[in-house]
Amino acid sequence: MEFYFLGTGAGMPSKKRNVSSLAVIHPKMTWLFDCGEATQHQILHSPVRPRKVSAIFITHLHGDHIFGLPGFISTRSALEGTTKLTVYGPRGLKRWLETTFEVTGTRLRFGIEIIEIEDGMSFEQEGFTVHVKALEHRFPAFGYRVEAKEEKGVLQVERLKELGIPSGPLYRDIKEKEEFEWGGEVYQSIDFLGPAKTGKIFTILGDTVPCDAGIELARGADVLVHEATFSDEEELHAYRFGHATARQAALVAKEAGVSHLLLNHVSARYVDREDVLLTEAREVFEATDLMADHSSYRIKG
Ligand SMILES: [Zn+2]
Ligand SMILES: [Zn+2]
Repeated sequence: MEFYFLGTGAGMPSKKRNVSSLAVIHPKMTWLFDCGEATQHQILHSPVRPRKVSAIFITHLHGDHIFGLPGFISTRSALEGTTKLTVYGPRGLKRWLETTFEVTGTRLRFGIEIIEIEDGMSFEQEGFTVHVKALEHRFPAFGYRVEAKEEKGVLQVERLKELGIPSGPLYRDIKEKEEFEWGGEVYQSIDFLGPAKTGKIFTILGDTVPCDAGIELARGADVLVHEATFSDEEELHAYRFGHATARQAALVAKEAGVSHLLLNHVSARYVDREDVLLTEAREVFEATDLMADHSSYRIKG
């Protein structure tokens, strides 16, 4: 699974960072989290294929997180995208998108489902379970926790051979069904499978001050993506505008016990001194990276 950062700036684009968007690329799906203005331009220089994007998750309706959405959706249609697209986001998203499509005469070649989210909601999307919680940002804003399903263990071929079971269609049955029959006896499939593999968990938070909901969403996650708009020197400013500092993001990661922290949503004021953000975060939580546009982070699973 790859976390590919399309835009990592805060509020407005700078020469180095476009506004927010992140692609999660997995063999089973490609998803976008937020879609700031010019996200589709960024996609042109990325491995993301618009036709393959099956779901978009919007964290909140501030323009730097959604102004690229109508353009991206139109282009997906123009590029022969015909499969369904599901868009999740806060209340108001449906009205805004439908009005935009209507006013601009945009017709899509695919079905689009716009689902408005609420605090505490959970749902399934392409075999993953997604949990939603409200964050704290002077404006309704949400975070997403995505859990992959537990996978069955590897087939214990040696044990099956001891019973004289040859490889073939029965092996598939043993992986898929609870029990199977061989030589007139019924066996439990689980006795012939290795330990189940726990599913990966990743948490993507939108704009927020450090908060309990963020920690809960991130608990034990393999990857946490957290905003780091400001450094220590702007801590009061960060709080006033509903944002976090890099150090505060690291404290959330530490408290939640995540494996890795990826920082994004960096203010343009740090253009030539971004290292200060990474240094402050790593003082608290070593396994941290400060993401740039077109940087990515991979995990197995
Ligand atoms: Zn923002
Ligand atoms: Zn915002």
